[in-house]
Amino acid sequence: MVIAIDGPAASGKSTTAKEVASRLEYIYLDTGATYRALTLKAIENSVDMENGNELSRLALKTDISFKNARLYLNGKDVTEEIRKPSVDENVSLVSSYPEVRKRMVILQRKISKGRNVVCEGRDIGTVVFPDADVKIYIDASLDVRAKRRMLELQSNGVNITYENVKRQLQARDDLDSKRQHSPLSIPEGAVILDTTNLTIEEQVKKVLEIIESLKRV
Ligand code: C5P
Repeated sequence: MVIAIDGPAASGKSTTAKEVASRLEYIYLDTGATYRALTLKAIENSVDMENGNELSRLALKTDISFKNARLYLNGKDVTEEIRKPSVDENVSLVSSYPEVRKRMVILQRKISKGRNVVCEGRDIGTVVFPDADVKIYIDASLDVRAKRRMLELQSNGVNITYENVKRQLQARDDLDSKRQHSPLSIPEGAVILDTTNLTIEEQVKKVLEIIESLKRV
């Protein structure tokens, strides 16, 4: 069983997907984390983010794996590090290159193979798992998403203003939805869930209801 959840940054999809996976006892796959790990590696190696060929080569020699909900980059636990602002700023550019995406999609399918999975990202219902059993597109207003992301960053000790968070989110949304390869879009057949006025518990409940209703079809 594959449950594909797509949507823009800070729409609540990660929190919801993680909780839904835990309640259903499915594995949770955060595909954004794979692009973030490669971006971190590119920053560490001072790779020019405009150089798609170099990034593709880097992707080929980079080992990314999950273990017990932790993310490892060539064996090193980078679960927290991939959330830092320098990764936020560069990840959309890194993930715009087709060869990089090809490599990540192979990895994402390999991790999910033969398992019940809640998989979230930008191209899950469109490219990674176009035949997913359930497709959900989670969205929320830019203001609410910026507030959520600001609180998350502040609770991690990052000092950033609301305006800056909002600008960064808008920039990432633009790059992710306007890029040529696998842009963020609503997959055909997806149920759309707007979380602007929902609490986390309400979002989780709604997603579980959607899964239940589609499973019965
Ligand atoms: O989900 P998260 O915000 O952590 O994703 C970080 C970035 O990774 C996104 O802004 C997007 O550029 C890229 N991404 C992607 N395809 C996915 C998941 C994430 O291009 N399936």
